[in-house]
Amino acid sequence: MQYKNPDLKFKVTPSGQIAWESPSNIALIKYWGKKEVQIPQNPSLSFSLNRAHTKTTVNYEPVKGKESSVNFFLNGESNEAFGNKTKIFFESLSDIFPFVKQFDFNISSENTFPHSAGIASSASGMSALALALCDIERTHFHQKDDSEFYQKASYIARLGSGSACRSVYGGFTIWGKIEAQQGTSDLFATPVSEKIHPEFEHIQDTILLVETGAKKVSSRAGHALMNNHPFATQRFQQAHQNLKELLNALQSGDLENFIRITESEALTLHAMMMTSNPYFLLMKPETLQIISIIQDFRNTTHTPVCFTLDAGPNIHLLYPLSVKKQVMEFVKEGLSPFTGNRGWIEDELGKGPQKIS
Ligand code: ADP
Repeated sequence: MQYKNPDLKFKVTPSGQIAWESPSNIALIKYWGKKEVQIPQNPSLSFSLNRAHTKTTVNYEPVKGKESSVNFFLNGESNEAFGNKTKIFFESLSDIFPFVKQFDFNISSENTFPHSAGIASSASGMSALALALCDIERTHFHQKDDSEFYQKASYIARLGSGSACRSVYGGFTIWGKIEAQQGTSDLFATPVSEKIHPEFEHIQDTILLVETGAKKVSSRAGHALMNNHPFATQRFQQAHQNLKELLNALQSGDLENFIRITESEALTLHAMMMTSNPYFLLMKPETLQIISIIQDFRNTTHTPVCFTLDAGPNIHLLYPLSVKKQVMEFVKEGLSPFTGNRGWIEDELGKGPQKIS
């Protein structure tokens, strides 16, 4: 894949505004461990969310000073840290989009959920930025068809934050080369091409907020600890096998295997953190209490509900739409004591990003 293009440069630099809304996603088969540059050690599978998303408006105008600048506003307030990270991200793209150096950027972004807390704001945030840059290219240079456009946006999003590449599509998405599906790649994500069983077409995700403060160990540092991890080789092989079995479950509507694989992947992710050198723990006591109560509830009521975790303490409670009523009663009565006044986000599988006019 060769996206380098020295011709994407303006003779007369325009001004403009482009806005995108892009979702967070939750991985069922986990990405943990990477090679240079943002290449995953194993394939992952996720679905895009609906309510947990980022809205980003990018204003661009001809550069005034010596070099391109980025002013970043998050939820209405200037955010220098996000601005600096975005500037570094844009500079890293100067071979692919030489025009970024010709602009001063004013970016306003809003997340509908807490950032840096393990609900993948990096995925929604970076995918929204990637879509905006690809859209600047599409607006001023050449029109791409939709599939080329989203593939490139996924490639660019990956360079900003690995799992962001899965957020440029709605529904279930795979990132990483697998034999079972043609067109899959380590360089960008692709939508799952198999027909998804109706049990999973409207899968629900209630995100129980155990903690909303910033994580103590960044995902970047966590990935790096997989490099000399004693269980790395087995883990990467296991992810391939689990992905294959999960794809079968998603097609056949096999809830039992879906639950088994999904929960095992979540705990394996955290087990990798706990067996790294140095080790670290992102689960909280409430995380374990909630997991145990979910297991009891499932065993006694036979409700097909399970959990997954991202790289953080918050629980994603997954279940088919058909059992939403009883699961929400369970959340209110059985689980809300562990979320305190942080509460939960009632989310579900989403349709993917949207351009905002
Ligand atoms: P999370 O679990 O929320 O993804 P990370 O620490 O992995 O936590 O990522 C948080 C980082 O994602 C922020 O420091 C910032 O660089 C980036 N990010 C979050 N929200 C946005 C946004 N709206 N626009 C651009 N970048 C964002």
